[in-house]
Amino acid sequence: MSDELLSRKDFFKKGFSKFFQFLHETVGDNLGVLAYSPVRPPGALEEKEFLDTCVKCGKCVDSCEQESIRFAGIEAGFLVGFPVVVPSERACFVCDDLSCMKACPSGALNLTDKFNIKMGIAVVNKDKCITYNGEDCRVCVTSCPFPEEAIFIDQQKHPFVNKSCIGCGLCEYWCDYDAIRVKSER
Ligand code: SF4
Ligand code: SF4
Ligand code: SF4
Repeated sequence: MSDELLSRKDFFKKGFSKFFQFLHETVGDNLGVLAYSPVRPPGALEEKEFLDTCVKCGKCVDSCEQESIRFAGIEAGFLVGFPVVVPSERACFVCDDLSCMKACPSGALNLTDKFNIKMGIAVVNKDKCITYNGEDCRVCVTSCPFPEEAIFIDQQKHPFVNKSCIGCGLCEYWCDYDAIRVKSER
């Protein structure tokens, strides 16, 4: 093999090795990142379009007085730096101003009225929800911006989530038992 060919091979080998080193440093052993399915701020485009459109300027982050939006961290792997809502940390309070969507300069967030926001859907964990242990609780219902509509207590005295749930995550945020979580469906 010629010297030139060898050095090109070496170059690509080093390139790949650097790439995998970067992958390892970014993702580590946590392959869970491959299943990363974030809750995006309200009014977000479909995920692929969102990633193509969002310029990571942080105007949505700055505009939210509730501090409901933050930049994704290293847990997001390659999607680090895009804005997310992490309901267990801080839900979207579905404020009257809807300022995050108004602040977005790129169109990654579109101004959407409260009823048509779709960040995901809440899912009850029967193993954790205390109503499945015979206790009365309606924290998720009372914390919901659309109580008795998006979520209600059914005849068996368990919370039931309707399709009209917008995925704001207030139920998740206020539940002391980690028994309800927003699934982003992105
Ligand atoms: S709708 Fe309001 S509370 Fe929710 S993320 Fe946007 S600015 Fe924050
Ligand atoms: S304001 Fe829009 S473009 Fe800027 S980070 Fe938020 S979603 Fe992305
Ligand atoms: S059920 Fe939960 S996530 Fe859905 S709208 Fe109500 S508080 Fe928000």
